[in-house]
Amino acid sequence: MQSKKYLQLTLAILKPHVVKSPFVLQKIRDLIIDNNFKVVRSRRATISREEAELFYKEHRDKFFYNRLVTFMSSGPSDIHILTAHDAIAKWRQLMGPTKVYQAQYNAPDTIRGMFGLSDTRNATHGSDSTESAEREIEIFFKDFDTKKWYEKEEIFYNLGRLHFDPISFVHTIDRSYLEKQDEHIRK
Ligand code: ADP
Ligand code: MG
Repeated sequence: MQSKKYLQLTLAILKPHVVKSPFVLQKIRDLIIDNNFKVVRSRRATISREEAELFYKEHRDKFFYNRLVTFMSSGPSDIHILTAHDAIAKWRQLMGPTKVYQAQYNAPDTIRGMFGLSDTRNATHGSDSTESAEREIEIFFKDFDTKKWYEKEEIFYNLGRLHFDPISFVHTIDRSYLEKQDEHIRK
C-alpha cells in the first residue's frame, strides 16, 4: 500500500542487548508510543541462526555477517509489526544511522545514538522498503496476512479505534466501535 492515506507497516526488532536491559527496553517502548506508532503484533523470541541467516541474507558476503547472525541469535529479541503513516522512513529516522559512532556524533537523540553499543549491537532493526517489510514480516509472523490486515483492520489503526496493552505491548482493535455504528444504522 503506497497511498498516503493508508498506514504503512514495518518490521522492528529490538535486538538482544536491548531486551536484556529493562530500562533501555522501556525507554525504546516509550519512544515508539510517543512517536505515535501503533503496535500491530509483538513477539519475544530467540531468533534461530537459520532465521537470522535468512533475514540478513543480503549481507552474507560482508565481513560482519558471521558476528551479526551470531549476535542476533544470542538471546531473546522483541519483534514488532509497527504501523503509522510513512512508518518505514519514520522508524528509520527514529532509529538513526546504522553505525553507532555516526549516530552518537550526528544524531545523539536517536535510538542508536542513545543505546547503540557497537556497529553490530546497534539496538534496533527497521525495514528499508515496503518489499523488505513484507519479506521480513513473513519470516517472523508466518500467520500474518498483510492483505487481510489492510482489508479488515487498517481502518481501526488509522482512526485510532484501539485498545493498548502496555504489558504485552500491543494495540488491539476496538470492535465496539463497529457495533455502535451498527446500532446507529439499525435505529
Ligand atoms: P540497517 O540495520 O541500518 O538497515 P544494514 O542493513 O546495512 O543496516 O546492516 C544490517 C545490520 O548489520 C546492522 O543493523 C548492524 O547490526 C550490522 N552492521 C552493519 N554494518 C556493520 C559494520 N560495519 N560492522 C558491524 N556490523 C554492521
Ligand atoms: Mg538493513
